[in-house]
Amino acid sequence: MPPTLHVCPFCPLHCDDISIEASSEGQPIAKVQCSKATVAYTTALSGTQSARIADTAVTPALAAEKAKDLLAGHGVIHVATSGTDLDTARRLNRLQAHDRIRIAIDDTVSTTAWRAAVGREGTLSATLGDVRMHADVVWTIGDVESDTPRLREQIDAEAKKSVHSNSLAAEPLAEIFYSLRTNSQSNDNLKPIVAPIESANYLAVILGADAFVESEATATVEMLSKLLWYLNQTKRAIVLQLDAAATNRAVTAWQSNTLVDSVTNPPHDEVHVRLGSPAEHAQAATIQIGGIDRGRQFAEIFWPAAIVGIDRDGVIIRGDATVTMPLAAARPTEIPTAIECLELWLGELPN
Ligand code: SF4
Repeated sequence: MPPTLHVCPFCPLHCDDISIEASSEGQPIAKVQCSKATVAYTTALSGTQSARIADTAVTPALAAEKAKDLLAGHGVIHVATSGTDLDTARRLNRLQAHDRIRIAIDDTVSTTAWRAAVGREGTLSATLGDVRMHADVVWTIGDVESDTPRLREQIDAEAKKSVHSNSLAAEPLAEIFYSLRTNSQSNDNLKPIVAPIESANYLAVILGADAFVESEATATVEMLSKLLWYLNQTKRAIVLQLDAAATNRAVTAWQSNTLVDSVTNPPHDEVHVRLGSPAEHAQAATIQIGGIDRGRQFAEIFWPAAIVGIDRDGVIIRGDATVTMPLAAARPTEIPTAIECLELWLGELPN
């Protein structure tokens, strides 16, 4: 019988072809061609992460006691996350509905600006499958590789024309738009971008977390929306931005008919608790519960909770917000998950 393949919980792509095998010592190991997943699986499956206060490893009981003391000193607790599974998202919303916490997503200025533009002006989006099947030109903007290392493989980018831009500012994008609209010669720097876009039948624009220069993000996303509108008069042009918090946004919209907040928006200027691993760009938190510990620069206290998709079963919505993926426990354990810890530390809710 072929081995059961596992869904990777470590980025919004949720690759479903991971093989979990036993090492010669009987320890589970993940077979995956992805540097991000290799590090995360190795750390998570080894079960060797310890509780930490500042730079010192401590017992889980001591870290929990310190965390509870800190939480008791605040009214409403500010909780940030890059994204969670479905059950955690529901339970976070319940805590928020009782005014125990305020939830915010670890968005960047670029992702927030794009989301706002989509909300305001609407745009064409697509699934990973659409892009894989139909796109003939892929334009990546910003660092797509670090957050989702196997994205190019999953959309079969090698079989398509690819162009790449580093974080875009409004002026170069305006020049690209002008060249396309007027059919005029673009300068030598922009030619490698303009020519493939011009030749595309189906253009997929893929945005990284730093797709736009921060100080010009709002103006640049507006320009990009206009460019897409223009291109769609003669060809298909879509945007794909994988969202690690697709589950949280969907659950918040279903349950409370509101949008989930973002750490880039005030008044969420302080993060008391982060659930799960911090992203590269994440603001430091006082306490991190669960996920991979990335050290004191991301959290003063770390408590090693069970990870959904490693220690517990769960489900999650993939980053293109189209399919629900099962996250199976690769190494079931009894330790509490991050949301179970948070509920415990915050105390009983009224019925
Ligand atoms: S690209 Fe993302 S989901 Fe796929 S294996 Fe790497 S970390 Fe996991």
